[in-house]
Amino acid sequence: MNSTKKIIVFLGAPGSGKGALSRLCIESFGWKQLSTGNLCRKHVSEGTPLGQQIDFALKSGTLVSDDVIIDMGKQWIEQEIKNTDALILDGFPRTVVQAIGFLKFFDENYEQIKLIIIELRVPDHEIIERLSARLVCSNKACQAVFSARIEKLKSCVDGVCDFCASPLIQRSDDKAEVVAARLATYHLHCEKLTSFYKNVGYVVHVIDGNRGSLEVFESFLKHVGTT
Ligand SMILES: [Zn+2]
Repeated sequence: MNSTKKIIVFLGAPGSGKGALSRLCIESFGWKQLSTGNLCRKHVSEGTPLGQQIDFALKSGTLVSDDVIIDMGKQWIEQEIKNTDALILDGFPRTVVQAIGFLKFFDENYEQIKLIIIELRVPDHEIIERLSARLVCSNKACQAVFSARIEKLKSCVDGVCDFCASPLIQRSDDKAEVVAARLATYHLHCEKLTSFYKNVGYVVHVIDGNRGSLEVFESFLKHVGTT
């Protein structure tokens, strides 16, 4: 592997396989992945200044502001980039405002780091099929994910978690009509983000995500120059 550190931004609809791809990168290379959801929860539970702002937004039923998300992302990148060859940003930056803040920070601080933008593309009808076949363990502490459709992702016993034997359920936002609405929102954001990145001179590498996860992984590695 070459020694240039990388920050890799993932774009892709829910169900496009970003999670599976991140896991393969983490297992293979020890890379770190930013999850804004988990990071928000961590800040809230630790009562940090950012956590207090997030907690206030959640309790008053408003969205966490772009500024708070940007600050949280920056802090995380500063801490984690020291310990690994590459960072994966999944779900951040989510908006163009966040992308502007992130790029400003990146340009000012990380001249020697390579920024790579990856879009995992899967046709809408395939996403709808994938997500409506997705089953999640009802045990909150487990949350393992299975598929009622893809043979190697099925649970051993129908409707029962392989790991903790709790019942499997369909998440309400994985129902077909809800997925269609989530996809519409995603396309709107994704188009704005990709045109923004292209306008400021970045290449958006499009990877066909409508394949097995290992094939997607191989193609991804070619794009990031790790093979
Ligand atoms: Zn389970």
